[in-house]
Amino acid sequence: MIQESTGKIADTLYALGKPALPAYLLTGKIPILFDAGMTIMGPEYLKGLEEHLGDAHRLAYNFLTHSHFDHSGAAPYLKRKIRMLKTGASRLAADIFKRPNAIQLIQSLSKDLEEKFKSQIGDSDVTFNGLDVDLFMEDGDEVDLGDGCGVQVMATPGHTRDAVSFYIPRLKALVGGEAVGGFDYNFSIRPQFLSSYDDYLASLERLKNLEVNLLLMGHFYVLTGEEAKGHILRSIEATRAFAERIEAELDCLQGNQDEVVKKIFREDYQEKKLIPQEERPFLINLKAQVKAVAERKKV
Ligand SMILES: [Zn+2]
Repeated sequence: MIQESTGKIADTLYALGKPALPAYLLTGKIPILFDAGMTIMGPEYLKGLEEHLGDAHRLAYNFLTHSHFDHSGAAPYLKRKIRMLKTGASRLAADIFKRPNAIQLIQSLSKDLEEKFKSQIGDSDVTFNGLDVDLFMEDGDEVDLGDGCGVQVMATPGHTRDAVSFYIPRLKALVGGEAVGGFDYNFSIRPQFLSSYDDYLASLERLKNLEVNLLLMGHFYVLTGEEAKGHILRSIEATRAFAERIEAELDCLQGNQDEVVKKIFREDYQEKKLIPQEERPFLINLKAQVKAVAERKKV
């Protein structure tokens, strides 16, 4: 089944915030929040935490799938608000969160929405001002949450170099961030390889060995049952198909990457209106995807 990322997902598992920018909360003895979307979502996540945990200060961890602004933007805000909160991310992501140019990019991508949703934010200071990571998450790490529940960490690079996924064996649930494909408005899968096409495919090949009954997507949806099981395989197919399309366009357009970006943007974003994403981040990502395929062709 495909369901929106909102409210109760399963026993002890909730989606906070809006379906477009969900943060997934696993309650229990040691509660964890996975991801922390854009800066503007901070106060809403905090409200959700109060609601489900009684006291937001009970939140022990905030684990981040990768360093993009729409997955980590609200993490500093939550850290300022929640006394003992420990942030977990890969070492590469931790380095990025300290880099002035990365902080500036996150601030710049967040700014338009902070203006637009001023009333939602109120007096809260949601600024992304860099982030100290407390736990470096590495492939194979396991975090014990007591009560027979734990979280396994898998390095899943390819969307970004710093991407990790989280698997909760008790629920057979995968928090894949964008290591798995997202849906467009037609429910076709859009692969999310940006930093490396080959790494992205290799990560999916590893993820496909997991038993997944619940797939918590980076944006909009949670998949259950057959939809969850099949999604990783379908993401592999969609990844190959999109690369083939980019290769064909590169051949047609004499290898001119900018022209390929313009053509796909025109077709998918402007004409078919398939993409549920702001124009600027979509273009930044598409450019990286074309580059990833073009660079692979040279090898
Ligand atoms: Zn991302």
